[in-house]
Amino acid sequence: MTTLRFTGRTAVVTGAAQGIGAATARLLAEQGAAVAVVDLTEERAEGTAAEIRAKGGKATAYGCDVTDQDAVEAVFARIAEELGGIHILVNNAGITRDNLFFRMPKDDWDAVLTVNLTSVFNCSQAAQKYMSQQRYGKIVSLSSRSALGNRGQANYAAAKAGIQGFTATLAIELGRFDINVNAVAPGYIATAMTAATAQRVGASAEEHQRLAAERTPLGRVGRPEDVANVVAFLASDEAAYVSGQTLYVNGGAR
Ligand code: NDP
Repeated sequence: MTTLRFTGRTAVVTGAAQGIGAATARLLAEQGAAVAVVDLTEERAEGTAAEIRAKGGKATAYGCDVTDQDAVEAVFARIAEELGGIHILVNNAGITRDNLFFRMPKDDWDAVLTVNLTSVFNCSQAAQKYMSQQRYGKIVSLSSRSALGNRGQANYAAAKAGIQGFTATLAIELGRFDINVNAVAPGYIATAMTAATAQRVGASAEEHQRLAAERTPLGRVGRPEDVANVVAFLASDEAAYVSGQTLYVNGGAR
């Protein structure tokens, strides 16, 4: 039996057209939330939203580039109006632009920091206005195992480590409004993002996953649902006394 632990809650999931974001949007909706499926274009977001509605869930698609602060403010106002407040924010939108540091173009540094970190500032700042008024909120952001360091990802590691410091600080500042702020740090999760990494290093997605699985104590790579389950826990009242934490979801790898 599905637990409806998010009935009456509105959840915003960014970058939810595919991958981890789509799995999270599906799970939150399955458990009763009205989900705002946000991605770069409404058309891309509509795929996930339509799938949720077809299964009897509540979902609406919104197009928004989360790096654009004005656009974020405007879309969060629409979501709060149309879906009824904002109770849960999942900062999931992200990109990679991998390269060894000595040849990393400044544009790739800027793009990765802006999409992965500044967007978290934009969305969290927009959401906290509604959450603090309601005296209720859950913010969960996608960090990464790469925050601990990963060859070819100086930009991405810096952004994902930044999310951990941001999370710890927001938890301190927003705790008195009953807002929980946490992060998850996935290891290798099989999505379009890791398929693109495989292609860049000249491997098939299957071969790349097999090698990653060999390095993982649990003997397999992660699925988007593995991350969605942990995000949903942190967004739920079962985790009401958990804040400022980053939970690694990486099959036991170090
Ligand atoms: P995907 O690339 O599959 O999905 C990311 C989504 O974010 C895409 O739909 C993308 O749209 C969207 N997006 C990108 N830029 C923006 C933007 N500026 N505004 C709105 N939406 C945007 O990624 P994953 O599902 O693999 O990853 C999700 C999150 O998890 C990311 O933050 C990632 O860094 C993190 N993560 C992933 C891991 C993995 O192994 N897959 C491991 C650790 C962390 P479009 O496709 O149109 O560009």
